[in-house]
Amino acid sequence: MITSYNDTIAGIATAPGEAGVSIIRISGEQAISLVDSFFRPKNNKSVKELKNRYLTFGSIEKDGKTIDEALVCVMRKPNSFTAEDVAEIHCHGGMFLTQTVLELALQAGARLSNPGEFTQRAFLNGRIDLTQAEATNDIIRAKSIAGLELVVNQLKGKLYERISIIRDKISWVLSLVNAGIDFPEEDTVFTNFDEINSKLAEAEQELKKLIDSADTGIKIREGYHVVLAGQPNVGKSSLMNGLLEKSRAIVHSVPGTTRDTIEESFLIKGVPVSLIDTAGIHSTTDLIEKEGIKRAETAVKQADLILWVLDATDPDFDTPLPISTDTFIAPVLLILNKKDLMNQNIIDIPKPLQKFKHVLISALDEQDVRKLKNEIFEVITGKTGIFTEETMLTNLRQKISAEKALEALKTSKLTLSHREGEELLAVDLSQTLLALGEIVGETTPDDMLNQIFSEFCIGK
Ligand code: GDP
Repeated sequence: MITSYNDTIAGIATAPGEAGVSIIRISGEQAISLVDSFFRPKNNKSVKELKNRYLTFGSIEKDGKTIDEALVCVMRKPNSFTAEDVAEIHCHGGMFLTQTVLELALQAGARLSNPGEFTQRAFLNGRIDLTQAEATNDIIRAKSIAGLELVVNQLKGKLYERISIIRDKISWVLSLVNAGIDFPEEDTVFTNFDEINSKLAEAEQELKKLIDSADTGIKIREGYHVVLAGQPNVGKSSLMNGLLEKSRAIVHSVPGTTRDTIEESFLIKGVPVSLIDTAGIHSTTDLIEKEGIKRAETAVKQADLILWVLDATDPDFDTPLPISTDTFIAPVLLILNKKDLMNQNIIDIPKPLQKFKHVLISALDEQDVRKLKNEIFEVITGKTGIFTEETMLTNLRQKISAEKALEALKTSKLTLSHREGEELLAVDLSQTLLALGEIVGETTPDDMLNQIFSEFCIGK
């Protein structure tokens, strides 16, 4: 889909539907002149004469008739989002009206933009790197303050800077290796062996830190999945309502009330958590219940944390789930519920369950639920405080390229230590740079770029 960007594109930048205002965005060589064909500024200037980056009031005309009063902003290259001439029309947010204004732009010579094409042009014109392009989309989809902070830092170019620091170290080594190839009598690699070694070790450490950050970065952006599992009537729905601080799941003393999985999101310390209340996992012949239990098992397998709820007052509270705990990939937190009904707060955890961390609570006690939230945060994030890291890798694509870079870097170190020759070392270092370049978009294959931008919204 990487299109020639000699033409002028137009798209609706605001969400479809009725709204106070809609924005139609136009970018390319003809952006300003084509708006001139249907917008009459009230100050009697032509659109071409409008002051850069100012809003100008005027009327939109079709077939000699005014169809709306609107504001237009022109942003001349290179000081615009796409680094091209851009015009934005802020008209009233009627669906028919917005579509009509877009059609005026298309009739005047613009082409309908593809999803993400404005951002793609910003990237292709060197205005932003690929991590910043991804951040513009992630800001739109952010689910929490922590997620926003992370992608805003990425948008500011902080991830690009961290990658650049690593690339600079590798490039420095590569230039010495290349000098050694060009001037064999100088043996630059041998003379600078220690410094080369320490530069590669520093780069490796930095890269490892980034890769370690990826899982957390992805989760902060997308949200953690926490699953409530357990036998019917142990208090899963009550706990869900407590954690969400609202009545979402039906609570009933008749076992089997929750027959399907229910999913709701909430925040713990600014981090998004998707809480999934499952149908009680137990043996049953009821077909609907069976389907619910199947879904519960799937949710358990995909979880980041399983809250395995048990009724601490039930003499048979350790009745095993009819699902093997070996299939639990995620950590398990045993919730021993209904503490308020116990005569004493001491409980004998049966041996098979002792390997799991446990908490004794009452799902009906706000303080207990608040403490449990902190516990959940600690288990899923591995942290006690809040997130303070400014940059992390935030998607799988970045992580895979970083891992590729680390592999190539490790090979470079081996080639160096075995003194296998400068040509080979130069190849390994170039591979490392290539993989790092993929993260920021400099060496990313076209089909991958197309895939990335096609997931953006229209008009972004
Ligand atoms: P689920 O089937 O596991 O979702 O269980 P529910 O949340 O529907 O709860 C079953 C019954 O136990 C309801 O009558 C709840 O009010 C009650 N219950 C749940 N948690 C507690 C608790 O901590 N203390 C007391 N006393 N009752 C609870």
